[in-house]
Amino acid sequence: MNKLYIQNLGLIITNKCNLNCKHCLRGKCSNKSMSDDVIEATLSQITAIGVLHLEGGEPTLAIPTIEKILTFIIKNNILVDKVSTVINGTRYESKLIELYDYIQEYINKYSNETSKIVVSFDKYHVEELRILKLLKDYIENTSKYAESVYYDGYYEIHNKLFREGNAINLDKKLTVPLRPMKTLATYVGKNRSFDKVNGLCNIGPIVTINVDGNITESDASFKNQNTIYNYGNVLNESIIECLLRNKIKTVKPDKFERKVNKQIIKYFSYKH
Ligand code: SF4
Repeated sequence: MNKLYIQNLGLIITNKCNLNCKHCLRGKCSNKSMSDDVIEATLSQITAIGVLHLEGGEPTLAIPTIEKILTFIIKNNILVDKVSTVINGTRYESKLIELYDYIQEYINKYSNETSKIVVSFDKYHVEELRILKLLKDYIENTSKYAESVYYDGYYEIHNKLFREGNAINLDKKLTVPLRPMKTLATYVGKNRSFDKVNGLCNIGPIVTINVDGNITESDASFKNQNTIYNYGNVLNESIIECLLRNKIKTVKPDKFERKVNKQIIKYFSYKH
């Protein structure tokens, strides 16, 4: 099987979360994290990743899953330019920094990129932090994360309508209908994430695998990931076959290609 180069890969590593924000796409949290089978079935199809997004739920509640993913990557020599994760700031996990050191040491052998940890901060998170009286913890934890070289500041949701259109907990009056995107493998390099076809700014990762192994879109709610945005499953289909079957467009990535030229040629040699 030819292996894939993916510029942006999102892995929804867990559905666990200790908050219940109104704008959450996850809906009701569950105790589920990505299984070893899904991790292996996904990563064994891939040879290189531009940015690996570790998504939740709350990623700090799935540290063993992160460890398995990073260990698999290193053992199998999968090239990763950068790891990125967004956390909610309510928990300080020193093990997360250790795991970042572990993968960064590997990345440093071939790339100048630094992985990043971003802490969420927007009005819905703040609302929830206030309700749960976690604002003080949030500030303390964020200050600790800020001491790390990986800390990349706050994350604010800037594409409000698109996100809210998917949010299950939000007041319906504030939401807009979800528009199909069909942009799984589309990525516009330098201008970053503007999808001209749908007129939507795609701020998330492109190819996204959820906890169940479903191949989906980053901004789809959990319900939609398992229904209308469920393009296939890594446990019984290759990612590339799934993309092609669903007529997903691809744009040649511009930055990472020198390092992984051979793999990209294999990837784009598929007839579209
Ligand atoms: S938005 Fe993030 S922090 Fe808030 S409930 Fe959803 S997964 Fe948890």
